[in-house]
Amino acid sequence: MPIKILADKLNVLMCTISCDGYFNYLNPYWSNVLGWSTQEIMAIPFIEYVHHEDRKLTIKAYRQLVNGEEVSDFRNRFRTRVGEYVWFQWYAAPLPENGVVAIVHEINDLVLLENDLKQHSVLFEQVSTLSSIGHWSVNFATKSVFWSKETYLIHGVSPRDFSPDLESAIDFYHPEDAPRVKEYVNNALAKANNWNVTLRIMRPDCTIRTVRITADIIRDSAGLPVSMFGVFQDVTDYEALNQQVHLLSHVANASNAGVVICDKEHRVIWINAAFTSLTGYVLDEVKGRSLGTLLQGPNTDQDTLVQIKNDFQKGKNISVEILNYHKSGHEFWNRLLISPVKDSDGNITHFTSIQNDVTDKKQAEKKLTHIAHYDVLTNLPNRVLLADRINYAMVQCKRRQTSIAVAFLDLDGFKSVNDMHGHNVGDELLVALSKPMRKALREGDTLARIGGDEFIAVIVDLPKIQDVEPLLRRLLNAAAKPVMVGDTLMQVSVSIGVTFYPQDNVDAAQLMRHADQAMYLAKQAGKNRYQLFDIALDNAVKNHQESMVDIRTALDRHEFVLHYQPKVNMRTGEVIGVEALIRWQHPDRGLLPPIKFLSAIDGHAISVELGEWVIDSALSQISQWQHINVNLPISINISGYQLQQRNFAERLAVLLAARSDVNPHYLELEILESSALSDINQVSTTMAACNELGVHFALDDFGTGYSSLTHLRRLPAHLIKIDQSFVRDMLEDEDDLAIIQGILGLAKAFQRQVIAEGVETATHGIALLKLGCELAQGYGIARPMPADYIPEWISRWEADNSWIESSLNQATKPNLT
Ligand code: C2E
Ligand code: CA
Ligand code: CA
Repeated sequence: MPIKILADKLNVLMCTISCDGYFNYLNPYWSNVLGWSTQEIMAIPFIEYVHHEDRKLTIKAYRQLVNGEEVSDFRNRFRTRVGEYVWFQWYAAPLPENGVVAIVHEINDLVLLENDLKQHSVLFEQVSTLSSIGHWSVNFATKSVFWSKETYLIHGVSPRDFSPDLESAIDFYHPEDAPRVKEYVNNALAKANNWNVTLRIMRPDCTIRTVRITADIIRDSAGLPVSMFGVFQDVTDYEALNQQVHLLSHVANASNAGVVICDKEHRVIWINAAFTSLTGYVLDEVKGRSLGTLLQGPNTDQDTLVQIKNDFQKGKNISVEILNYHKSGHEFWNRLLISPVKDSDGNITHFTSIQNDVTDKKQAEKKLTHIAHYDVLTNLPNRVLLADRINYAMVQCKRRQTSIAVAFLDLDGFKSVNDMHGHNVGDELLVALSKPMRKALREGDTLARIGGDEFIAVIVDLPKIQDVEPLLRRLLNAAAKPVMVGDTLMQVSVSIGVTFYPQDNVDAAQLMRHADQAMYLAKQAGKNRYQLFDIALDNAVKNHQESMVDIRTALDRHEFVLHYQPKVNMRTGEVIGVEALIRWQHPDRGLLPPIKFLSAIDGHAISVELGEWVIDSALSQISQWQHINVNLPISINISGYQLQQRNFAERLAVLLAARSDVNPHYLELEILESSALSDINQVSTTMAACNELGVHFALDDFGTGYSSLTHLRRLPAHLIKIDQSFVRDMLEDEDDLAIIQGILGLAKAFQRQVIAEGVETATHGIALLKLGCELAQGYGIARPMPADYIPEWISRWEADNSWIESSLNQATKPNLT
């Protein structure tokens, strides 16, 4: 494993982690940093070494990796053998064969320094709040002294217990400072000098405070001092802070990281020694200059600069890696951490910046990225990079209105090369073939190896999909070229499956799968050829399977309903029954008509199950209506497939038996005339058996099948339904009118009843009545409706006046025939 040879020598931490969360490779440097042996580290899941506060985020980052995303600049703490924690910063990438590869930097010093500097700005803020200011005055004539309440507080005494005069006030000073105070007072009296000094006082409880005192002298008209007043401020904490700041700058100077302090305009105020060794600049050269332009050069990434600028404007902390230039001109990668320092009002006063040379890390990352994205054997892109390339190509081709081809290539006969000559020879052959195959494509195309002898080519920018043809030919030729491996001349070939985007409008993973399916067909068709993926075929198969599963679920969830369409006698105005029509109350797509789902299950067992549900629901409906005195026959539609089940009559008997309150006469079965009734004898027997049970049949859509006459003659149906296509056009189309007349004649001859369906207007009704057809169904009478509406509809319905008139006329007219 080339990565291992590289990593064993590196002074950075490198590792791979398996998908079950154990390290499966660590370079020796881990032991140096953590103190555990590599065996110890590998023995337990890596998360056990992570500081408990960092575990949640670590697991999140790990998930991100498992999902194929890279993770960079992630920080967490790892436990060392002596029980301390070290800060790590991770750059990690998913491996194509699952798992993770990572470079890790130990950044303890950096984190400490960052925290110190943060502290730094916090300390400054505290200065203003900590120091309390009082004032004082002395009257020289009376020698009386006034202290404000803050001044009392600073002295650690209360105005109730103590009233100062000049002497007792001076007594408060530290023995070492008291003589100076006397001197100041005398000076003030003699020369009227103002003062501004820092001294120490000692409180009654013996604590010592550092105070800053100012004094201003007031003089009389002769110029003689009469009194003195000033500010009295406890600056003890401030002094301590000052010392800390001093210490910090010492730390910063000792640090290996470059540290820069800038004013709020980003002009350099101060740099440490490490900054000088990092960049070559000394303070004099950079003071007052803008850090932004100082280190930039021709190859500095402009986007990063823009990002920095934006983050500055938002007052954010900045953490970037950027290509910078040393004073001598050489490039180095600089890891910048810039944070604003704010005053107590939140205004930015300064910026601190910590800088680190991360050139080594960057180079290691680059190698790692290569390993994560390229196949080690052939140096072709691997699956990870391929997915990127396809996604990119998909976006591009939409923009350019071209197509891309995704071609799945699988070598023919490669397995026998491996079996006969061994894997090494096989590997060499793959390397040898990958070159001419790559060459067969164009500059912007991609050839990736996705494992074994499988490759995927992404061919971009095709104005027409046919343009892929010559490229596929070249690929076939390239793979079939004889190549020398060692001293053997070898020859294989390739089978290619191809799909096109956006014609095949699916995601990258699906495109690969489709190309794979097509490749399989190319193999079956004799290998050494290409095969295009058939979108239409795939859709048909897929929809079919989807619907089968969906309908099963819908049935279980009771999502099917029956709507009912009335059938009437136009002459008498009587409602003679209703036809049950199935609907799917789909949770997302709304109410679906049968055409949307029935064809998908035609001929499958599930259609029988659904058919039986229809029978049972209709029987239950008859029964429910009977309870409210609506005695209404229901006709239901039976598929040819269901009717031809050997046990159809028995099943019907069982269903009827379960609803013993329903008279079987109320159920009518409509068989589609065009149904594939393969065995007329058997169907006829079944129908006869059903008639025995009291259930009668109608021949639906009559006139549309090829064997209407045969059916009429052989099948024991009581009713024929004239198909709506003839009825719809009968008013304009004489042929249709003639067909209807013909059907009516046949019905009379065979003594069957007739009903016309698709009666959309009253005029259709009149025309049908004229021909002697009284029974009708259609939108002109009523649309199919939910069961609940039927009783009310029946109570209100009246036959059209024109029908009654035309019936009367019909009756009075002399019969011409
Ligand atoms: P069908 O048996 O010929 O049913 C008549 C179809 O025509 C119904 O469509 C109905 O809504 C529609 N229709 C009724 N009057 C008019 C009209 O005046 N003008 C027009 N243009 N159309 C009219 P629907 O409900 O969409 O059903 C379509 C087909 O689905 C049915 O044709 C039937 O073959 C099948 N089907 C319906 N329910 C079932 C069922 O429960 N089981 C089986 N196996 N098939 C069913
Ligand atoms: Ca029907
Ligand atoms: Ca019909």
